[in-house]
Amino acid sequence: MVRILIEEMEAYAKENNVPIMLSDGISFLENYIREHHVKKILELGTAIGYSAIRMALISKDIQVITIERDNERYQKAIENIKKTNLENQICVFNQDIMDFETKEEFDLIFIDAAKSQYIKFFEKFSPNLVKGGTIISDNLNFHGYTKQETRIESKNLRQMVGKIRNYIEFLKENKKFETIFLELGDGIGISVKL
Ligand code: SAH
Ligand code: MG
Repeated sequence: MVRILIEEMEAYAKENNVPIMLSDGISFLENYIREHHVKKILELGTAIGYSAIRMALISKDIQVITIERDNERYQKAIENIKKTNLENQICVFNQDIMDFETKEEFDLIFIDAAKSQYIKFFEKFSPNLVKGGTIISDNLNFHGYTKQETRIESKNLRQMVGKIRNYIEFLKENKKFETIFLELGDGIGISVKL
């Protein structure tokens, strides 16, 4: 039953160009949550609730707080969470991530929203991460552009890619975290709080 709903969400995302996590990326995330007994998750960028739902389905004692500013996607996420009966595990906020305030502590923070703001997101919420907790960042390859050596023609794209490269440098230089980069999905960073 749930499998059908998951497949429906994947089809909807494809049809409507919603950038949900790629299959090997989401599988990695699920295994990570299982192996590290993650219970409390903050997700930045809900879209239609796909990744939040897959994370919450791992175990009944997992709680996900997730934030989405786009109202149409937020509504879709609420609908999908209802259909999968996960209302008591997933809480969605319809607002900009930079306006979201919380005193709660999390075992995992999943950053999957506006790529140009990753450093801001990281700095804003890293105090809410427990020691030994993890920040996972999606789309660090940005469809392969991050590694492209020739000059990118479009100015917007070039700026975006520049920001992702800055974020990667920021992670490498951050002494409070240890980061590894994986070539999974669209490129994932795993940063453990020391
Ligand atoms: N995690 C989802 C995909 C998220 S796509 C999944 O894998 O299923 C990224 C989403 O982040 C988009 O829907 C976009 O509207 C949202 N977003 C981007 N910047 C944001 C911001 N500053 N505040 C809130 N939501 C944001
Ligand atoms: Mg993503």
